[in-house]
Amino acid sequence: MTLRGHILLAVTPLLLLLLCLGGAGAALLLQLGQRSDAILRENYDSVRAMAGLNEALERIDSSYQFALAGQERDAREAHRANWVLYREQLGVEERNVTIFPEEQHLVAELQDLTIRYQAQGEAFYAHPARDRQRDYFGERGLLHTFAEIKRVAAAIHDINEEEMHNASRKAQDTARMSVIGFAFGLALSVVLAVTAVLWLQRTILGPIQAVTEAATAIGAGQLHLVVPVRGQDEVGRLAQAFNVMTEKLRGYRQSNTERLLHARLTAQATIDSFPDPVIVIDLFGRVEFANPAAQSLLGVPPPKDGEPLAVWHPPESLRQHVEDALRQQRPVLTKAFDEAATFRVDGEDRTYLPQVRPTRSPEGETLGAAVVLNDVTRFRLLDRLKSDWVATVSHELKTPLTSVRLAVHVLLEEVVGPLEPKQLELLVEARENTERLLKLIEQLLALAKLEEGEERLSIRPVDPADLLRAAADDALSRAEDKRLAVVIDDTPGLPPIAVDSVRLGRALDNLLDNAITYTEVGGKVTLSAKLIDDGRVRLTVSDTGIGIPAESLPHVFDRFFRVPGRDQMPGTGLGLAIVREIVIAHHGDIVCESEPGRGTTFHITLPRWEEGA
Ligand code: ADP
Repeated sequence: MTLRGHILLAVTPLLLLLLCLGGAGAALLLQLGQRSDAILRENYDSVRAMAGLNEALERIDSSYQFALAGQERDAREAHRANWVLYREQLGVEERNVTIFPEEQHLVAELQDLTIRYQAQGEAFYAHPARDRQRDYFGERGLLHTFAEIKRVAAAIHDINEEEMHNASRKAQDTARMSVIGFAFGLALSVVLAVTAVLWLQRTILGPIQAVTEAATAIGAGQLHLVVPVRGQDEVGRLAQAFNVMTEKLRGYRQSNTERLLHARLTAQATIDSFPDPVIVIDLFGRVEFANPAAQSLLGVPPPKDGEPLAVWHPPESLRQHVEDALRQQRPVLTKAFDEAATFRVDGEDRTYLPQVRPTRSPEGETLGAAVVLNDVTRFRLLDRLKSDWVATVSHELKTPLTSVRLAVHVLLEEVVGPLEPKQLELLVEARENTERLLKLIEQLLALAKLEEGEERLSIRPVDPADLLRAAADDALSRAEDKRLAVVIDDTPGLPPIAVDSVRLGRALDNLLDNAITYTEVGGKVTLSAKLIDDGRVRLTVSDTGIGIPAESLPHVFDRFFRVPGRDQMPGTGLGLAIVREIVIAHHGDIVCESEPGRGTTFHITLPRWEEGA
């Protein structure tokens, strides 16, 4: 049955009962009204008529007595007037005879007696006074008829009075019965209403409540729940729809869970397959993924199913990188060996370049960080071998080459004899090539020493302005040759910096050398120094030269790198690599900014001198 059917079924009997009660009430009221009306109409009028008739009769009788006393005139007058009243009252009674045969008989008797009394009265007044005593007191005379009429009128009065009492009693009975009937009907209505409410509760509210509770539980994630289906009404269909929806949700969750599990397994298998240590942590440093290499190298606790994620405490060499990635959302991508971290594995030192990247959701929300340690032990070894080899070869080449240079110089000075123009030309070219080769060898040796950390620095407090001045003085003659302005733009009162003035001077010389080489005639080279926010001092060498294309900028500090298309310019591609090594040896850093056609700027940031540091 539908919900509408249920409601109709519950309400209809109640409505019918109320209709019956209303109908019965109206009928009873009507009946009571009619009965009261009948009492008034039939009986009360008769009672009053008999009282009136009795009074008129008494006065008619008095008129005979007046006549007997000789008051003829007043007697006749009273006789005539009271007969009128008498007839009026008799007429009321005649029209008001009830259905009772007894009253009909009495009225008929009263009519007969009235005719007789009237005839006797008329005879009384027609007779002379001496006969009147007999007419009045005689056997079956006026007095006798008077008494008879009084008796019959009293009987009619009593019958009607009795009937009034009966009718009143009946009305009271009816009212009592009505009250009982209504009370019963009311009680029945209450019982019916309570039954209807209980039934509706069981058939409608109960199932709705069950569906609501199940829906709430399903909403809270208990997808295994099934909503009970009772009947095929609207609530039943709703419950069925809910069950279908839950079934689909279950399937969806199942497939989602499987997909997630699969994705997790794939991710784990992927990072497990890397030989390099890989660790993925959340924002609080808890380990989400860690491959076996990470577990064995760093002792990272692997995530276990059903257990809360363990927090990873990175080793000292990685702590800052991980913090930077998590707090500042900054990737830390190390490239040079001097940024490498060394760990001892199976009794041997292994070198790793840490790569720490913050991880983000597609919406840009930070999830944590991924740490990859690139094992560069082999490359470092190769690099050392190469440096050693270069150093050895350079060293071996330097001595003979120095003698060649000396020989060429001696020949060119014509100490051993005059030279032909052609010989002179060849020897000049040989001197230039020898100079270039020697410079290259010196640079290679310097670089190898710096890379190996063999160059012992003698760190002293140095006034930055002095450094800039010395570098400018060294470059002055070359700059003048090219008609370049060399300007020193230092800030007075700078704190001393902690540097080896010879080594740093060499670095500044290299930068100035490049600035002069790559700046057109008439340009300007500026040297400056200033204190920066973190308390360090920044030395800047900038020029108004040809600049460096954007794509070459990241490589200018690489060894042997030269900007393509500038082969006619002198150079080895080692100058900036040496500068960088010198700056790193001073625990400083160097950056290059350039705009092709407008100039290039190098900033070297160095720590200030601190007593006892
Ligand atoms: P090089 O011996 O060739 O100068 P460097 O390592 O000193 O080698 O410089 C690498 C390259 O960077 C150079 O070949 C040059 O093209 C470019 N470079 C360096 N300094 C400047 C500068 N101040 N202006 C323009 N280009 C420069």
